[in-house]
Amino acid sequence: PRLVDAGADTEDTAVEAALRPKDLDEFIGQEKVREQLDLVLKAARARGATADHVLLSGAPGLGKTTLSMIIAAEMAAPIRITSGPAIQHAGDLAAILSSLQEGEVLFLDEIHRMSRPAEEMLYMAMEDFRVDVIVGKGPGATAIPLDLPPFTLVGATTRAGLLPPPLRDRFGFTAHMEFYAPAELERVIHRSARLLDVAIDAAGAAEIAGRSRGTPRIANRLLRRVRDYAQVKADGHITVEIASAALGVYEVDARGLDRLDRAVLEALLKLFSGGPVGLSTLSVAVGEERETVEEVAEPFLVREGFLARTPRGRVATPAAWAHLGLAPPQGAPG
Ligand code: ADP
Repeated sequence: PRLVDAGADTEDTAVEAALRPKDLDEFIGQEKVREQLDLVLKAARARGATADHVLLSGAPGLGKTTLSMIIAAEMAAPIRITSGPAIQHAGDLAAILSSLQEGEVLFLDEIHRMSRPAEEMLYMAMEDFRVDVIVGKGPGATAIPLDLPPFTLVGATTRAGLLPPPLRDRFGFTAHMEFYAPAELERVIHRSARLLDVAIDAAGAAEIAGRSRGTPRIANRLLRRVRDYAQVKADGHITVEIASAALGVYEVDARGLDRLDRAVLEALLKLFSGGPVGLSTLSVAVGEERETVEEVAEPFLVREGFLARTPRGRVATPAAWAHLGLAPPQGAPG
């Protein structure tokens, strides 16, 4: 997998447990979300009640799983972690719901990918803390109502707009997680370096932060690769020179573009004079599948303002020419 992919790989899964902030105070950035969540949790605690259901929306790697664990910790409640794709049948969900303890937090990642029948069961569970368990098959099947203890559902999704409105409406509180500012990522990196017992200076942390695509998961992963380099090629201390040399080896450039991202931009600029060019033509030029270019490379290039998708095709922006150190052709719209 790519070093700058925001999804978790097996190494991340093993290391991330140790790097997760344990309470809201330790959680860096997302000021508004933290402030609002703090109120929701404090009020529930004061009432001695279970917290309202919480929907977290945002890109992978921004801290949704971490926040769900913090919610459980702040409520002194146990947590169960599962995901939409893991729940194939309504029965799978019924089994989970009926085994929850009072006040337990149920974290449902990728909640938009749950099956339709499971989704409908969830509506009732969220609203009335009740499920209908279907016993038997065909005309003889009967629904047996089952009361559930109050619990807090924490749903996570990449975009809240992907959820059907009846599901969205059953959350008491929705938090939208934004990409992190470089200064926030620097704090994430300093904190992780401390936990990993790695020496890093301010400029070194800033260098890694700038290449991390606004995403703590990527920042932590780049930090580990830079640490490897610092141990093998130097005295283990991370400076700006070490960070930039290490990430040069891994082909993650100063703005966080990797080999694929650069290949797309280079083809667009050098072969098509900055476009407009159709996605298929561009993909053939890069030697990648259409889907790879469209879903893996383009979202970040668009977000960073290097590429625009127009009705006539893909177009490079002036920032793209500047980033690759190339001059736009004379008379080009840029
Ligand atoms: P998601 O569930 O959104 O994919 P995670 O909660 O698994 O993301 O976070 C990915 C990694 O980034 C974890 O190692 C976590 O510790 C770290 N992380 C995420 N958000 C923060 C934050 N606000 N402060 C510090 N570390 C964070």
